[in-house]
Amino acid sequence: MAIDESSPSFFSPWPDRLRHSAIILLAAGLALAVLVVFGDLAVVRAAAAFICIGAAALVPWRLHDVVTSRDDVRAVNPVEAAAVAAVVAGMPDPAVLLDRAGRVLHLNAAAAQLAPALRKNELAQFALRSPEIITALREAIATAEVRRATYLDHVPVDRWMELTITPVPVPTLFGGADKCMLMTFHDQTPLRRVEEMRADFVANASHELRTPLAALSGFIDTLQGPARDDAKARERFLGIMHNQATRMARLIDDLLSLSRVELSSHVRPDALVDLVPIIRQVADGLEPLAGERQVAVEIDLPDTPVTIAGDREELLRLFENLIENALKYGASGGKVIVSLSQAVSGEGAPEVRVMVRDFGPGIAPEHLPRLTERFYRVDVGDSRAQGGTGLGLSLVKHILNRHRGRLLIESVPKQGATFIAAFPQVKPPEAS
Ligand code: ADP
Repeated sequence: MAIDESSPSFFSPWPDRLRHSAIILLAAGLALAVLVVFGDLAVVRAAAAFICIGAAALVPWRLHDVVTSRDDVRAVNPVEAAAVAAVVAGMPDPAVLLDRAGRVLHLNAAAAQLAPALRKNELAQFALRSPEIITALREAIATAEVRRATYLDHVPVDRWMELTITPVPVPTLFGGADKCMLMTFHDQTPLRRVEEMRADFVANASHELRTPLAALSGFIDTLQGPARDDAKARERFLGIMHNQATRMARLIDDLLSLSRVELSSHVRPDALVDLVPIIRQVADGLEPLAGERQVAVEIDLPDTPVTIAGDREELLRLFENLIENALKYGASGGKVIVSLSQAVSGEGAPEVRVMVRDFGPGIAPEHLPRLTERFYRVDVGDSRAQGGTGLGLSLVKHILNRHRGRLLIESVPKQGATFIAAFPQVKPPEAS
């Protein structure tokens, strides 16, 4: 926003005040002349009174001159000053009003909290220090145009704020206006974080795809070259290539599932589904893996249906991930228990809980909060060796979010891990 330099009230207030003074002098002169004409006042006294009134009408000019030459707008009309302070105080974002030298006139609580070094009547340049901000402020003052800069805060956490400096005319006591600078801070941290997450996600996904792809093209080269006539090597390499291709397909599958669940996360599934046959179907499907890993799977499910509002396909995916993880990472424990129970959440809401427990090496406590992050693995090598993508628990969390449920993870290292998927129970009328 550029300020209109031609505005008479902002940049050329003199003619206005001259008019006011002239009107006062004219009225006083007339009144005194009438009193002298009617003999109520001596000419000398009338002249003395006129001089006093004239001085009173003209002194504010001088005062204004002194005030503005000191760049000091503390002498603004008290009513307007209060209004300006109230507007700054009421702004939702951190806001600071500066005079044309950069001295703080008003600042709201949010600004004081954001930059405690900012103090009233002190120069903002000393408090904010960043060369980018100082340049922006200098330019805004010089050009009377809006300038933007970035304000970075690192304590207690990293924050990115977009700082906007807007020149604003603030009215003064003697008419006219002073050029002030309104500095507002807009928090860009959530946007930045999303942007960083997106960039990380793309980098991770490309890396995960590139690794098996590199292996595939390496084996193709070998098969076309040195191993062309080696039937034994060809057989072995084709097996590895098959595994790598499966890994890529699985990764793409998980990525697509994740984005599908995320897209529909705001729509809670409303179909009523019985969890018991779903869990049984998953356990049956994973029997070959359990046999291969020599793990006994104990299934403890009720004989009666346990109904929740859910999406069958997503629930199959969810239990498959949890039970498969228990079989892969907890195999050394030799046993996995899958059970279903009714419980009450911390807030007192009735829940259906499906627990998958293994007796393997467990997970160290520092990893627990990060397990549901995309591509997070406790041991990358182990996960890759097991054909993992690092997306399984992230998918589990998103599916549970969509079902308005939650994931509880408990683990004691060396004693195994327990993953609990908790779903809100459907209310009896819905169930019937
Ligand atoms: P992945 O595709 O690697 O299995 P997940 O998101 O399913 O990805 O799991 C993330 C990580 O959590 C795994 O790489 C593994 O390190 C750890 N993890 C998951 N389940 C278990 C478990 N039952 N026991 C020990 N570690 C586990």
